[in-house]
Amino acid sequence: MPVTAGSLIYIETNRDGAAENAADVAAFEQDTVVHEVGHAVGRSGDHPVTLFEEGGALSRYTASYLNKIRSNQQAVELARKQVGKCVIKCSQS
Ligand SMILES: [Zn+2]
Repeated sequence: MPVTAGSLIYIETNRDGAAENAADVAAFEQDTVVHEVGHAVGRSGDHPVTLFEEGGALSRYTASYLNKIRSNQQAVELARKQVGKCVIKCSQS
């Protein structure tokens, strides 16, 4: 899969966001990473990405983003190959 875009996450901005949302900093940072991975793999700039943005759970994709991610066949194939490698690697140990 060619690299065509990326994300920058600023620690200070993220910490400010955690304080504004009265969230645990580590959990908020994790949600931010999940959010950006959702944009990248879902190939969309739409919002909301995670349920937290709707007042729900941290680091859980919305149904809309799960559909976007599952619709990316390149990502699905890559994930299947990675699962296969893990199974082979784990079974050899
Ligand atoms: Zn976003």
